[in-house]
Amino acid sequence: MTESFAPLYVVPTPLGNLDDLSLRARAVLVSVAWVAAEDTRHTAPLLRHVGSPARLLAAHAHNEEEAAARILVRLRAGEAVALVSDAGTPAISDPGARIVAQVREAGGHIIPLPGPCAAVTALSAAGLAEARWLFHGFLPQKSGPRRAVLAELRDLPCALVFHEAPHRILESVTDMAAVLAPRTLVIARELTKRFESIHVLPLAAAHAWLAADSDRQRGEFTLIVSGATGRAAGADPVSAEVERVLRLLLDENLPLRQAAKLAAAITGCPKNAIYARALEWKG
Ligand code: SAM
Repeated sequence: MTESFAPLYVVPTPLGNLDDLSLRARAVLVSVAWVAAEDTRHTAPLLRHVGSPARLLAAHAHNEEEAAARILVRLRAGEAVALVSDAGTPAISDPGARIVAQVREAGGHIIPLPGPCAAVTALSAAGLAEARWLFHGFLPQKSGPRRAVLAELRDLPCALVFHEAPHRILESVTDMAAVLAPRTLVIARELTKRFESIHVLPLAAAHAWLAADSDRQRGEFTLIVSGATGRAAGADPVSAEVERVLRLLLDENLPLRQAAKLAAAITGCPKNAIYARALEWKG
């Protein structure tokens, strides 16, 4: 005989604006016996807001296995559970994937609800030409590993979506420019909140734009970099290494022509291609 389970609902919650909780999400939160939350203190006010009598259990990154076992006990007892994270969609740069996997493996029934997600919200307003995109989430915290990850992504012909913390935004866009420019960057900040801003600019200009006003460095960030074009697919002689050398020379305030000439001498890359890249950065 197959075991019967109450469903596990995967429920996205607002990124900031409480009105973004869908009618269906609200109905689920009100009807379930339990809400498994990334941070129960964070979710309690949301449950009060919708008038949900559900009990809370903790399901965070450090107890997912144990939380899955506790959730399975509830589901087997016929008590439905809603899985939520602090904001947005569970399992997207958030805990939840292991719980979903374990419940499925045990034969449980998983019902995902569509809803708020910073990456998708930012993409919808990015206006980039690419139909394809890759969600990366957070980059490594240190510059060396961060540049190494960016170099792995450099040739992909799809838009790249990142999360970044405010205290690392300047260093991150510096590394993105060093490894990926010239590209377009979309800086989506504080989506759905009072100070929401979506700014589109050349990647190479991002550091200066952010540094010009400290308010631009506050809040929650989702960054989208346009995809590699034909040049990354092999047509472009100006490699990441050539760009690194050129940037070092320009940082020494050498005139563009002289920097291009020296970078060509150092790397063996054609001078005109390097000069064109320097002009792109400047413009
Ligand atoms: N699961 C979430 C989702 O579906 O959007 C993402 C969780 S991840 C731990 C949190 C990161 O998402 C933040 O540090 C920030 O980079 C991004 N983020 C969350 N809310 C945002 C917002 N309102 N505007 C821009 N980015 C946001």
